[in-house]
Amino acid sequence: MVDDAIEHLREVRERSVWREMPPQVREAFSAPPPVSPEPLGDVYGTFRDQVLPYSMGNIHPRFWMWYMGAGTFTGAVGDFLAAIEGSNLGGGNHAAALLDGQVIGWIRSMMEFPETASGTLVDGGSKANIIGLTVARNAMAGGDVREEGIAGLSQQLRFYASDQVHSCHQKAVELLGVGNRALVRVPTDSECRMDLGALRSAIAVDRAAGFRPACVIATAGTTNTGAIDDLPAIKALCRDEGLWFHIDGCIGALLAIAPRHRHLVAGISEADSLALDLHKWLHVPFEAGCAIVREASVHRATFALHPEYLEEKPRGIAAAEYLFDYGLQTSRGFRALKVWMTLKEHGLNRLGRLIDQNIDQAQYLSDLVRSDERLELVAPTLINILCFRFNPGGLDEAQLREINNEIMLQLQEDGTAALSDTTVHGRHCLRVAICNHRTRREDLDVLVREVVRLGESLMIGSLIEMPLYTRRAVGGQALQPSPTIQIKPRSRTSGKERTSSC
Ligand SMILES: *Cc1c(COP(=O)(O)O)cnc(C)c1O
Repeated sequence: MVDDAIEHLREVRERSVWREMPPQVREAFSAPPPVSPEPLGDVYGTFRDQVLPYSMGNIHPRFWMWYMGAGTFTGAVGDFLAAIEGSNLGGGNHAAALLDGQVIGWIRSMMEFPETASGTLVDGGSKANIIGLTVARNAMAGGDVREEGIAGLSQQLRFYASDQVHSCHQKAVELLGVGNRALVRVPTDSECRMDLGALRSAIAVDRAAGFRPACVIATAGTTNTGAIDDLPAIKALCRDEGLWFHIDGCIGALLAIAPRHRHLVAGISEADSLALDLHKWLHVPFEAGCAIVREASVHRATFALHPEYLEEKPRGIAAAEYLFDYGLQTSRGFRALKVWMTLKEHGLNRLGRLIDQNIDQAQYLSDLVRSDERLELVAPTLINILCFRFNPGGLDEAQLREINNEIMLQLQEDGTAALSDTTVHGRHCLRVAICNHRTRREDLDVLVREVVRLGESLMIGSLIEMPLYTRRAVGGQALQPSPTIQIKPRSRTSGKERTSSC
């Protein structure tokens, strides 16, 4: 298994980014529960043949969809050793718990938080944000939310974030019982940063209407474009207004260790709470996120609970602080180990340089896009996220969406590259998020070449083909062909061809 694993990683560049699963593979996963034992070698063989070749592709150097890291071998070994070691990191007097605490201390120091700050490792950024926002809600509620619930509060709470805020915050406010309407989306400027004038007015309007403004969620690195809200200004505003200052740093917080770009997140250490993701720019395999809270006592006051079967003892295995006092889980895995091993093996300088490298690559790609008149940048490229589209001229927004969507899908089906798409201030675009330590500039050359080639062949195809319908449109409904350009998608069976069937 280990030999195959090493080979799998060594040869990642030679493989397609992704491929569609054949029907027999799909069917294999609807088999009933196994009743009799099967030799482990056979079990592994099924994994090797039916899972490994059909992965998402995010460890590939040309995977730039959504936003995720590419993992490392060390991280994988860390997960393996953590499972062998086997401790429950809910707490206890053992070395793994101390190691967990050390990792929190390291992250606190990387983010330049004071020693009085607390933190907890969680499964990802969504959970880290929920931790931060729960502490914020309880600290700012003006009543005892743990005892009375939000129904017991005399005023309804309000949270503020930009209209670019990650969707996990909506889930958070829904879970926290304050509801989606309590999350005020503040408009953004042309660089997709929160408009602070609009924020101030929104707060004033809410106060006048009898609401209780509680918390501003700043984003350091938005998912759409990588924009970074003005952290020092939002901090000052929160101080003036008496609000909690939470930062969603799932993308950008780790810029703090990047030698040439740390200035972009100056002020991050001023947050009352901070969420960051270690399975993104630290390249730790899934799952690993972290929440940091400036005042440990406020953090504990939100989550600590000690039933009679979970008391701390003066000696023995329970003679330590319980780590579940800082979050939602009771049992916790030893995810700290892969983070600890990654940080130790590479050191902050090298990990920081990898972040700089991805930003340089995004600038390189921006230059390629700018220098080709068939391509258009749709948002400014600040860090490692690039929004662009094939736009040879003469197409309206609906046609541009259709052709770029088809380019994106064909790139995936070819196994050439994985991009996602989004819509920024009303304009649809392809989105490249380079959070990948395996990416090289030549991969970006391939991307630009293929986007242009596919775009042009789709344009030519559209002139000679009779109206056709795009396959697999959202909700299974075919899109209506637009009047002047019909894009013929490639059929499923021609996935190997390099040229469009148009
Ligand atoms: C990825 C991301 C999240 C969610 O993090 P997960 O690790 O996927 O749960 C939240 N906010 C931002 C800005 C992100 O990029």
